Amino acid sequence: MQVRVQNVRKEFDLFPALHDVSLDVISGELIALLGPSGSGKTTLLRLIAGLERPTSGRIFFGDEDASEKSVQERNIGFVFQHYALFRHMTILENVSFGLKVRPRSRRPPANEIRRRALELLDLVQLSGLEKRYPNQLSGGQRQRVALARALAIEPKVLLLDEPFGALDAQVRRELRKWLREIHDRTGHTTVFVTHDQEEALELADRLCVMSQGRIEQVGTPDSVYDTPTSPFVFGFIGESSELAVNVDRSDIWLGDRAIGISGAEDVGPARLFFRPHDIELVEDDAALAGVVASSRRVGGTRRVELELGGGGARVEIDLPFDHPAGERSRIAFRPKRWQLFPG
Ligand code: ATP
Repeated sequence: MQVRVQNVRKEFDLFPALHDVSLDVISGELIALLGPSGSGKTTLLRLIAGLERPTSGRIFFGDEDASEKSVQERNIGFVFQHYALFRHMTILENVSFGLKVRPRSRRPPANEIRRRALELLDLVQLSGLEKRYPNQLSGGQRQRVALARALAIEPKVLLLDEPFGALDAQVRRELRKWLREIHDRTGHTTVFVTHDQEEALELADRLCVMSQGRIEQVGTPDSVYDTPTSPFVFGFIGESSELAVNVDRSDIWLGDRAIGISGAEDVGPARLFFRPHDIELVEDDAALAGVVASSRRVGGTRRVELELGGGGARVEIDLPFDHPAGERSRIAFRPKRWQLFPG
């Protein structure tokens, strides 16, 4: 099911939580809403669910205007950060609940409900635990039950709000992979809220990066990482350094030093962004140069903080972990890939 959010604005007591947001969620994709705290991710998710009404704008499910429809009419599967399982019901009863409470005309027969619930427990790899109660499961297992319960009603759209937020890092990583596999098997249109960029980059078909109630960029993880369209996205997704530079005759200058990269179109003050691993060490003077202020091992490389000459700005670059540079060593480098934004 395709979901179209069209020019949606949402105010809470005149405070605009979302400004004119438009987003097309493609049928069958897993899209992650990613952004810092307060950027409007949960508000957008709740609007899609029908738990909130837009102040203005519309939301379409397929060709149908769903803006005025209730949560039930929208047929949404929802999983929250805090497992809202029914504590007094067994796992099987929890998963069956959504089907059991349907009006009789749309309710499958009892044996069919049971068959479907057991099948879903098998899908989330919890076969054999159907007679347990939620407090007899681990946090990760409870979230898997919550997902099975959300899938049981055969939702048109699955909405997940930081579903792994309360779990430890190792379990999170496992569930992430598992969620991707389930999604590939079931093909539900899924909107996933997270503030964890690693989770979003690994899991999603597309990212929707949000900041201050606006969508900054929508694209595949690769396109957002490789070609951020704003300073915010460059700084928010992945590691990056930023320098205040000047562009003159297409050369880029840091203070009075040409840094050996060119090709910029506009002239004047600009913000130069690059990633720590997108650099090359050089010997000549037309480069960025500085002394090592600190360094630490990051996996197979060494992340070095350099204090640049003239102004003392600091940037981070990656060196091979066995590079001999010690504290206060002088290093010159040039970004191999970089982006400029107007200053
Ligand atoms: P987080 O990652 O912290 O959950 P978020 O990106 O999901 O943040 P939202 O919960 O959508 O952000 O909130 C966006 C803005 O709207 C925030 O400034 C928040 O304080 C405000 N807001 C959200 N819900 C309400 C509400 N019911 N009443 C008033 N303001 C609200």
